[in-house]
Amino acid sequence: MKQSILFTKTAKSISSEEKSINSQFLIRGGYIDKLMAGVYTFLPLGLKVFKKIENIIREEMNAIGGQEIIMPSLQPKENWQQTGRWNTMDDLYKLKDSQGQEFALGPTHEEIIVPLLKKFINSYKDLPVYVYQFQDKFRMELRSKSGILRGREFVMKDLYSFHSDEKDMDEYYNIVKKAYFNIFKRVGIGQETYLTFAAGGSFSKYSHEFQTVTPAGEDIIYICQKCNLGVNKEIKTETPSCPDCGAKDFKEEKAIEVGNIFKLKTKYSEPFNLKVKDQSGKEKEIFMGCYGIGLGRLMGTIVEVHHDSKGIIWPLAVSPFQIHLILLGNNEPLAKKGEELYNNLTKSGFEVLYDDRQESAGVKFNDSDLIGIPFRLILSEKTAESKQVEFKSRLKEKSQLIKQASLNSFLNEQIKL
Ligand code: ATP
Ligand code: MG
Repeated sequence: MKQSILFTKTAKSISSEEKSINSQFLIRGGYIDKLMAGVYTFLPLGLKVFKKIENIIREEMNAIGGQEIIMPSLQPKENWQQTGRWNTMDDLYKLKDSQGQEFALGPTHEEIIVPLLKKFINSYKDLPVYVYQFQDKFRMELRSKSGILRGREFVMKDLYSFHSDEKDMDEYYNIVKKAYFNIFKRVGIGQETYLTFAAGGSFSKYSHEFQTVTPAGEDIIYICQKCNLGVNKEIKTETPSCPDCGAKDFKEEKAIEVGNIFKLKTKYSEPFNLKVKDQSGKEKEIFMGCYGIGLGRLMGTIVEVHHDSKGIIWPLAVSPFQIHLILLGNNEPLAKKGEELYNNLTKSGFEVLYDDRQESAGVKFNDSDLIGIPFRLILSEKTAESKQVEFKSRLKEKSQLIKQASLNSFLNEQIKL
């Protein structure tokens, strides 16, 4: 993509209201735009990152048997009354139309998926089933001050699993746990992210959160110094020692909850009377699990973990582009060479943002640091003349000259690393 036609622009500064690092860099870099507190537009660069994250999650969900659907956001009041959550869920957005009919804007989808499955599942032979979606959630968040970490409208990947017995649910829960570790590793926050014990609600002793350690975290977790598992505040007050290994030595850290996995057991299948016939024809309860990841929260967390004073430093797997090609100098023959190099790189399959704008070197480098694409190529009068190009990694100070003839193989090596 050519930067000259990108309709968004970078900004030197933004409103002092934006306190969080993720919203400052993402807004200044032209990734997102804030409509109001907790509600954001994803702009072309931001959507590219978002889609890369989405695809990594989708691959991992498909690998564990997930079937993708999209359920509605506009939901009948009756479904929410059936579980009692119409009255008990504080952050539920409720609306009434001009006919007086009432609806909920979905904050989660148990109330929709369970009646949906009831239409298709009759026998134990129809189980297990794993269904997921990427869908807008609406929650009346009172603390939406941390950029895209806490939206009032936000996209969640929510997976729901249905099982004929508890053992099958437990086994699948562990499979999802592994898939979640893969996801957080692939998007570049594997080292900072801890599996953390959390309260399980009335049906299960524990649930698990995936908590990413960063000063921007709104949660406090305690990391067991023996087995490296996390314990959240609620659990730590109830049980002073590690629920896994029993050790008592913890390190306190601030962290962001990037994911949550939960054994629901029969909590939602019961109110909707979702049952199957077992081998002997007897009716039997269905066991459920639910598993969430907030995509905006994950994207914001990646920025909180990977940045410096100048801007974002994207992990390659989620960067909007692999290479930022920068043209220095405004004369026509040079611009032609830049165009050629850009065309060759894109034809070879590289994802390139080409800064072909008529701006100074200072402006271009500052923007490039802010936008944070991991690899940078600089074509100037001098490098073009010697049929070379300057290569610089966003993470390193030093640059190196590469012969254009061997550029493709050099870049392939970098991208493979
Ligand atoms: P929190 O305690 O931070 O409010 P939660 O317990 O309400 O989170 P869940 O209902 O378990 O969150 O949602 C599953 C996942 O969805 C979370 O792990 C998080 O990644 C994401 N998520 C939850 N609320 C938001 C939000 N307001 N904005 C963005 N992502 C969110
Ligand atoms: Mg919440």
